[in-house]
Amino acid sequence: RLVNFSAGPSALPLEVLQRAQSELVNTNASGMSVMEMSHRSREFERILVNAQSRLKKMMNIPDSYKILFLQGGASLQFSMIPLNLLQTDHKAAYLITGSWSKKALLEAEKVGKAKIYASSEENGFKSIPSFSQSALSPDTDYLHITGNNTIEGTRITELPDTGSVPIVTDLSSSILSERINVEDYGVIYAGAQKNLGPSGVTVVIIREDLIGRASKATPSMLDYATHVKANSLYNTPPTFGIYMIGLVLEWIESLGGIDELEARNHEKASFLYDAIDQSSVFSSPINKKDRSLMNIPFTSLDPDTDSAFLHFAESKGLVELKGHRSVGGMRASLYNAMPYEGVERLVDAMKQFEKQTVA
Ligand code: PLP
Repeated sequence: RLVNFSAGPSALPLEVLQRAQSELVNTNASGMSVMEMSHRSREFERILVNAQSRLKKMMNIPDSYKILFLQGGASLQFSMIPLNLLQTDHKAAYLITGSWSKKALLEAEKVGKAKIYASSEENGFKSIPSFSQSALSPDTDYLHITGNNTIEGTRITELPDTGSVPIVTDLSSSILSERINVEDYGVIYAGAQKNLGPSGVTVVIIREDLIGRASKATPSMLDYATHVKANSLYNTPPTFGIYMIGLVLEWIESLGGIDELEARNHEKASFLYDAIDQSSVFSSPINKKDRSLMNIPFTSLDPDTDSAFLHFAESKGLVELKGHRSVGGMRASLYNAMPYEGVERLVDAMKQFEKQTVA
């Protein structure tokens, strides 16, 4: 198989794909595939509860939070968050750290009043802005942050002190990559297709007191209360995706859980960052303290050398290394399913390329 550095949908663990393949036509010895089961059947309910309870245990999610499996991607959460949490005459605050937080802000502005809490746009999002001076007014319903910036390659390592204002975080590209304290947040959401499973499922972890605040005009499908009441079975859920999340969670357990993944992710990322920092051809534009563990952008001497490296890497089976079109250069995404050997192969290729280029 190719070594897939895609930012998403990303590689899934080979063991998980093989298990899904072996169960494809007869899931859990039920006599049918998960894709053929009624979502109201006992068998599917077991699959749903299995995924929820494994996630709850793995992330230490307190009983006062609900876990939902929704559709519409993280992008629909950009709208659902303000539709559910932003009260008339109140405001929402947004920490702007990249393209995804800008998109989230845009959707909030369609629903109500939203303001920028702090932004690093003027330095091209190469760092997380400092926010210690920015107090939140009491009519702020939430502060939205993007925990990991997939395109720019930064991550938030320190949370602002918001007092009683809940923090809502988009963890689409970092969920389960390192240990977090769920109670620091009012809402955590993530599209599944990077660290959790296939695209088509979005996980939402929401504190109970934030449920049931949507206005009467909110369509039922966009109201968290609807999905909480029906335990994610209000309508037909993405059944195959939920099943796959269960398998990915079992795989993580078999490795030793989040703490083990966190250690591995630090090792993988440091190995690549060190290679970039020591290189005479490649460099990282990102402020060291704010560097992402999951998405590592880097550039070479000029765009022609970037493209020569991308061809060279591809010839060695290292694919999806092209940087996002808005940033250019290269980007290596090292999600949980990326083995250490994948990063070793990339670093080897960089060193070989460097030798050829400098010679
Ligand atoms: N937020 C972040 C941080 C992302 O990385 C992405 C996708 O890459 C999104 C939101 C959008 O996710 P979706 O495609 O599930 O709507």
